[in-house]
Amino acid sequence: MSILVVNSGSSSIKFQVVNTENGTAVASGLVEQIGESEGRVVLDLSGDESEKKLEIPDHAKGLQIAFDMLADAGVDLGDSVSAVGHRVVHGGEVFYRPTLVDDKVLKKIDELSSLAPLHNPPNVLGIEVARTQLPDVPHVAVFDTAFFHGLPAAAATYAIDRDIARQHGIRRYGFHGTSHEYVSQQVEQFLGRDGLNQIVLHLGNGASASAIRAGSPIDTSMGLTPLEGLVMGTRSGDIDPGVVMHLRRSADMDVDAIDELLNRRSGLKGLSGINDFRALQKRIDDGDSDASLAYDVYVHRLRKYIGAYMLELGHLDTITFTAGVGENAASVRADALANLSGFGIEVDEERNAQRSKHARVISTDASAVTVLVVPTNEELAIARATDALVRTANEA
Ligand code: AMP
Repeated sequence: MSILVVNSGSSSIKFQVVNTENGTAVASGLVEQIGESEGRVVLDLSGDESEKKLEIPDHAKGLQIAFDMLADAGVDLGDSVSAVGHRVVHGGEVFYRPTLVDDKVLKKIDELSSLAPLHNPPNVLGIEVARTQLPDVPHVAVFDTAFFHGLPAAAATYAIDRDIARQHGIRRYGFHGTSHEYVSQQVEQFLGRDGLNQIVLHLGNGASASAIRAGSPIDTSMGLTPLEGLVMGTRSGDIDPGVVMHLRRSADMDVDAIDELLNRRSGLKGLSGINDFRALQKRIDDGDSDASLAYDVYVHRLRKYIGAYMLELGHLDTITFTAGVGENAASVRADALANLSGFGIEVDEERNAQRSKHARVISTDASAVTVLVVPTNEELAIARATDALVRTANEA
């Protein structure tokens, strides 16, 4: 049996059918441009790709088209899937482990939408739609915030009025937890060591850093929302909150306009017009100074976090790069860790330049801190968490 993993966004649904025994994806796909005049469904069956372009009015229709395409290709989800795992971005204070979905749980996830207005509503929609289409199997919510639930109070607390913070659930939650947990476990498995002090850098369209001591995170760069921290594709990351007040007062921008600015028109895109890292690198090679500055700001912020987390951990064993940029952009890895031999960090130029889809060490043999590239696999992590929960529930 397999697990269906669903990651539902505002206008797209990503899904993967995962065989948890061997960790492979039986099928994966993407439904995108939901609600637009022409949508797209892409299906990948072990490297065999097919695509359909048609109007997809809503999430329900999108998922149904994808399921029909799978059935046409011989994958009957009703027969082959034992449970569905859903990625849910915000678990608030309430959810900090994978949770079986029932109506009450779904309602609570929906109530957390005030903390994640861009993410939780489409997550809820995805669960509703999948529950309707696969009503006979358990559905499990796996939360992006869960791994960071036990952050030390000093790292989780904003220095603002404590009553207001308590009243409105304002604290640092952290995100990308499934990836940080999975990658940090992969590092220990790959190196055959445990109890490591690790820094994990998840650098994709969204980006976050975490400091992990013996399996438990002690700090992470994202906060109340996934806006805090590193410079991202379209998000600003850390910014003086005074900027928000200034824009409100001087530019007459309302809250939604500022939200849109910081979430969608900032980061690499705000600085250079481009959020895709490959395209940015090309523009740098072509001599574009805006693109160069965007890259420099990105790397500067990254180094700042690495430095801070080294100090917080006191002793550092590993630094690991993951996600689209982290796994592929050798220059970012080299620049983020340049000239740190005084701190026991030495990237090997040749190892760093080699391309691979597998976990690998890119530091020199003399480097006291081991630097690695480890591909993330959030779908597999969600599938495994779902499988484990369903098995335990069945045994109970
Ligand atoms: P993710 O969110 O993990 O899918 O990462 C997406 C980001 O990874 C985009 O900015 C891509 O441009 C970037 N990326 C993917 N492949 C490469 C590559 N070969 N070199 C540089 N950046 C890449």
